[in-house]
Amino acid sequence: MKLIFVSAEDRAEDWRHHLTEQLPDLEFLVWPDDADGLDFASVDYALAWKPPVGVLKQFPNLKAILSLGAGVDGLLIDPELPTDIPLCRLVDRSLTQGMTEYVLYHVIHYHRHMAEYAAQQKAGQWKALPQEDPRRRRVGLLGLGELAGDAADKLRALEFDLASWSRLPKDMAGVTSFHGPDGLDAFLARTQILVCLLPLTEATRGIINAGTLAKLPAGAFLINCARGGHVVDDDLLAALDAGHIAGATLDVFNEEPLPAGHPYWTHPKVILTPHTASLTLSHTAAEYVAGNIRRIEAGEAPLNVVDLGAGY
Ligand code: NDP
Repeated sequence: MKLIFVSAEDRAEDWRHHLTEQLPDLEFLVWPDDADGLDFASVDYALAWKPPVGVLKQFPNLKAILSLGAGVDGLLIDPELPTDIPLCRLVDRSLTQGMTEYVLYHVIHYHRHMAEYAAQQKAGQWKALPQEDPRRRRVGLLGLGELAGDAADKLRALEFDLASWSRLPKDMAGVTSFHGPDGLDAFLARTQILVCLLPLTEATRGIINAGTLAKLPAGAFLINCARGGHVVDDDLLAALDAGHIAGATLDVFNEEPLPAGHPYWTHPKVILTPHTASLTLSHTAAEYVAGNIRRIEAGEAPLNVVDLGAGY
């Protein structure tokens, strides 16, 4: 059984180690190093992230394309991506845990006025700010899938007043569900801390824009840990400067790395991290990928197959 690793990120040796530990019979090949003289028709699986356009279609007998990330926008960008075989998202407990930590940390940061305390410390100011009851702090999750679902679970344990917005209605105890385009305005109107965990698709690109930001209550906060393409940067900067949005945590950007001199770098109301809200840890993710390969080899349907029509 052969697998080709095709990734813009150079983590091939890490993956080779962990995946062949799980699947000792697997021949682990790396694109483009192993391409010379390779019989492309003999390759069974591609493990990929942001492959160069047209590479994957050269392998005619792939049984599945396995994404190295939870989001598949970096794969669907290839107009020649094979669409007659399953494309499987990555779902991994470490990835989920890391994201939950990130979301909780930043929700609590805003909930407990930590940005204001940092400013007060700089100014040598000793002043207590009000401590809100989390049951009166309305947190809204854009998306309620693998990642947001786990974050919601832990935020619920802290008794935040939670709502979600998804494509289809949800039934999660303690989380008020809004869905579809018609549900968005009411969801935004009740959200003081907005957390974006949507996939980047045609339907969600630019969803955080002047219109939607204006529908949030004055003084709301944004945490975007999904994709930079969800945010219209000029609109967010204008809303921050106008004071309508009181603070934003941004992990992802329209251009990455964020260019030097971009206003986000020095904006007093922005906290930024370099697309590290949660990283794929190959030792745990390899267990999941190996499990999916075993399923396919046993003739079972793989897990977390992307709906190509919906784009996630
Ligand atoms: P899932 O596919 O499990 O969940 C996606 C959620 O978004 C679902 O609840 C889905 O609704 C909802 N959704 C999708 N399209 C729409 C729409 N048009 N309108 C309303 N809701 C919509 O994804 P994950 O939770 O695993 O991952 C989410 C995203 O997080 C990834 O796509 C990726 O971009 C990002 N990510 C970022 C990382 C980082 O480090 N910054 C790391 C990992 C992921 P429904 O449930 O109804 O289908």
